[in-house]
Amino acid sequence: EMLRGKRVIVTGASTGIGEQIAYHLARMGSHILITARTEAKLQNVVQRCLELGAASARFVSGSMEDTAFAQHVVREAQTSLGGLDMLILNHVGASYFGFFDGDVEHVRKLLEINFLSYVAMTTSALPMLKESEGSIVVVSSMAGKVGFPFTVPYSATKFALDGFFSSLRQEFTIQSINVSITLCILGFIDTERAVRAAAEVLRERPAPRDECALEILKGAALRRRELYYRYSSTRLPLLLRDCAAELLDYLVRSRYRLPAPPGA
Ligand code: NAP
Repeated sequence: EMLRGKRVIVTGASTGIGEQIAYHLARMGSHILITARTEAKLQNVVQRCLELGAASARFVSGSMEDTAFAQHVVREAQTSLGGLDMLILNHVGASYFGFFDGDVEHVRKLLEINFLSYVAMTTSALPMLKESEGSIVVVSSMAGKVGFPFTVPYSATKFALDGFFSSLRQEFTIQSINVSITLCILGFIDTERAVRAAAEVLRERPAPRDECALEILKGAALRRRELYYRYSSTRLPLLLRDCAAELLDYLVRSRYRLPAPPGA
């Protein structure tokens, strides 16, 4: 009920968690503007959202490598929805799963997609969000709270999100700006990309993406500061971070099926 009739942007909604967020919003009767690069997939998601009961559904396709495109998506919300109640930042650029290969250009490109476009969209959307006293939802990861092996560039972009949005939240409080920021700390989720990259090497079972999407929306509607899904594989291990950081590092490494070290 809290999201009925609300105007929401969901990025990275052509597949994975973003697609499931769009379907939940549709069932809740929201106005939905989705974005990603693949137009054909976005068309299908929009069609399904309309069938599920969305108040309206539309898409804009393009790449978040380009800051101008990120700003364009927000302008589209202004033009077609007449404002914005919730900005859900969820997209993620492709990266590799393996030891850091020293490619600085890749780190720069990933920062543009996973971090700078989030900053650009937030900045453009802020006037509308202040007017509606709305919400910003930032989809991050356990890899943005504690060092993870094999995803060094990705982890760096997720840590950057925490720094930017947690600091911004402080400034909103000081300035009495009533726009909530919910940082979502996710564990392993069963999206195609994640399962393809990590299912062979991770010892844990991935959590379902539709349930994950619903938890994100609940946290956002309740204007929670941070959201942990699943709680047992995210919030509980993070309790060790300040009192037993090396133990937490060890527990993170023990989640992987690692090859034996040379000469062992
Ligand atoms: P996914 O299935 O790979 O979907 C990524 C989305 O981002 C797609 O819609 C993709 O669409 C879009 N995208 C990729 N590159 C883009 C670009 N350059 N410009 C614009 N859009 C782009 O990802 P997911 O697994 O659902 O993850 C969603 C979020 O959850 C991410 O922020 C991720 O870091 C976080 N997360 C996921 C997991 C997990 O295990 N799945 C764990 C922790 C955190 P196009 O290819 O059509 O552009």
